Amino acid sequence: MPSGWRKRGRYAPPATGDRALSDTQSGSRRLLGRLRQALAEPAEGQERLDRITGLIAEEMRTPVCSIYLFRDDETLELCATEGLKAEAVHKTRMRLGEGLVGKVAASTQPINTGNAPSEAGFRYMPETGEEIYSAFLGVPIQRLGERMGVLVVQSKKHTPFDDDVVYALEVVAMVLAEMAELGAFIGEGAAMSAPHQHAVMLRGNVGQEGSAMGHVLLHEPRVVVTNPFADDAEAELHRLREAVDRLRISVDEMLTGTDVADKDQRDVLEAYRMFANSKGWLRRMEADINRGLSAEAAVEKEQTTARARMEQVPDPYLRERLHDLDDLSNRLLRLLTGQGSSTGVDMPDDPVLVARNIGPGELLAYGRSLRGIVLEEGSVGSHAAIVARALAIPLVINAERITTEALNGDRVLVDGDQGFVHLRPEETVAAAFRDKMAMMTKAQERYASIRRVPATTVYGPTIRLDMNAGLMADLPSLRSSGADGVGLFRTELQFLVRSKFPSRGELAALYSRVLDAANGKRVAFRTLDIGSDKVLPYMKPQDEPNPALGWRAIRVGLDKQGVMRMQLQALIRGAKGRPLTIMFPFIAQFDEFRAARQMLLDEMEREEKLGHVLPKSLEVGAMLETPSLAFAPIQFFELADFISVGGNDLKQFFFAADRENERVRRRYDTLNVSFLTFLEWIVMRCRETKTPLSFCGEDAGRPVEALCFAAMGFRTLSMRPASIGPVKHLLRRSNLAEVREIIDDARAQGAQSVRPAVMDWLRQQG
Ligand code: PEP
Ligand code: MG
Repeated sequence: MPSGWRKRGRYAPPATGDRALSDTQSGSRRLLGRLRQALAEPAEGQERLDRITGLIAEEMRTPVCSIYLFRDDETLELCATEGLKAEAVHKTRMRLGEGLVGKVAASTQPINTGNAPSEAGFRYMPETGEEIYSAFLGVPIQRLGERMGVLVVQSKKHTPFDDDVVYALEVVAMVLAEMAELGAFIGEGAAMSAPHQHAVMLRGNVGQEGSAMGHVLLHEPRVVVTNPFADDAEAELHRLREAVDRLRISVDEMLTGTDVADKDQRDVLEAYRMFANSKGWLRRMEADINRGLSAEAAVEKEQTTARARMEQVPDPYLRERLHDLDDLSNRLLRLLTGQGSSTGVDMPDDPVLVARNIGPGELLAYGRSLRGIVLEEGSVGSHAAIVARALAIPLVINAERITTEALNGDRVLVDGDQGFVHLRPEETVAAAFRDKMAMMTKAQERYASIRRVPATTVYGPTIRLDMNAGLMADLPSLRSSGADGVGLFRTELQFLVRSKFPSRGELAALYSRVLDAANGKRVAFRTLDIGSDKVLPYMKPQDEPNPALGWRAIRVGLDKQGVMRMQLQALIRGAKGRPLTIMFPFIAQFDEFRAARQMLLDEMEREEKLGHVLPKSLEVGAMLETPSLAFAPIQFFELADFISVGGNDLKQFFFAADRENERVRRRYDTLNVSFLTFLEWIVMRCRETKTPLSFCGEDAGRPVEALCFAAMGFRTLSMRPASIGPVKHLLRRSNLAEVREIIDDARAQGAQSVRPAVMDWLRQQG
């Protein structure tokens, strides 16, 4: 081993001015220099890999150097070696986690041992002839969370390799990963298939139903490091320090920015500042540069290490911080390369947005131009999901690794009904998907033909079909979908997408425009429903043990009356003398409704005194979202002008199953007999007092569910505009009395859900 490779703590960057150290660095630089030469020479992938193993073995003076690469997600293959038997190349394979090589790949951590056979998990591979080598050092070849393979050196000594050798090998592995990304090892006799070119199917969760075909638009495109090597370390160090200075200034500016009232955002920025000023971070990158990496490659090496750690850390808080470090590294790379998030990439004609996560404001800025959205994180109740739903854009959430796998411009199919994403699909998959979409388009055309006719069931009655909305942009759907009105206007979206409270004037103008666009059709404005999943960025977050059962919706409105009063005033003014319909969310007991209603009446009086014109008529309703309200005194039903069942919340409380928890949210069927019987009870109570009743949760937009609700006595359903056609189509073909009979029979027979019986009946109808 050359004298230069000295012992040192793995992540402790070397102190400058150390003689032995500079030997080490020059050892590294020489190795990288030779690597660069080897890579610059024209050669096919296999030849290159062979040269590289020879070169590393020679420079590090180890008898063995081998490169193992992934053949598929689970299998590693020996692709090139110096020192092991040549016959083993492309024959020796191991599963992820199997043997020491498999363990390095699985853990993305180096293994360094002087006695390989004694290590737990060691697997003897006789075809390689490795039994004479005792010392083993394997480091992962990985790039930004993407595992590519393992680089191994072995020797006959009985001691582990020096820390410096570990470090140097990590630098080399990083360069290999970078070069692999740039396609250096593909071609004739390829040892490695080109990255990001094969088809990948990812399974996520449904955020918003619907299908989309298009091309990837990365929300934050990754920076491409085109050259991992650098000749002039001084110049690279200068570039790095200058970029870090600019980064620090920009973080400080963000922190002193005026609109950073939100604590979470502040926390993130504080973490940015901490990392940006971290001496360890900078020193590690400087040490990498001193070993021959370019500034960009040094930043990316740190980022790769952070991502690998992120996978291992179970603590969500620490994971968040590592995410912050990842974001910060991206910023630094942009500063170094000048590649911005908006430069260089043309928006495809059919963009499918791919992001780790995205805020509602950013998503709105893309608007309806997006065909689909795929997020690596997110939840069904996240603001992004709410906006995607409002914009009716198919959304898949929790699509693990999508930001690592996808490249700008890649073809992608989004199956928002099943939660699948096909990246760079095979033609057969794409063709099947196209057929499915064509069928859906046909169905849409069929629905368009019944747009103007009512949802009259066979032998009556007619069901009123309203739509749910939350943005001005939704209103054109009122015409195109044929909805009878807006059964639920979620006013919180206007609050969620801003960085501060909107003013009364702004809101009044908006509500007025909504009513203009509705052109006389009824719009039920729901007052601010915040808390639980909907947290305003500028409101102090409540640290509640169980936010869904916490201080939310009307509870906030009644306790902090300022915002609710302001919103009621804006609604009264926005009506400009037209009829006004208001409903209060999450009413759990009669008094809450009475108090909220009284607040509205007080505001009417006040507005009148101030000389504002009052709405021509006023309807005041309550959302029934907690089982308790179904058992409220009859006086509540008499006082409410209408009741709307918020099925999303009602179902989660009825079954005690969190609507945002993927593990349980689909566990209980909406057509479960207990739930239907409960809905029947609500119908009965409203009938008793002639209180108009509607259902406005997501389930109202599912045709079979909608049919059953109608059979149970609901005469108004409110849903996503895209659901109106399919629901109306089914209702118009169905005899509600027959459906009711099927439901009652299934109930009498002790079925858990009426779905199988109803589906059978539907199949018989053809
Ligand atoms: C509901 O709970 O069903 C509802 C319509 O309200 P949201 O989904 O906005 O909570
Ligand atoms: Mg609700």
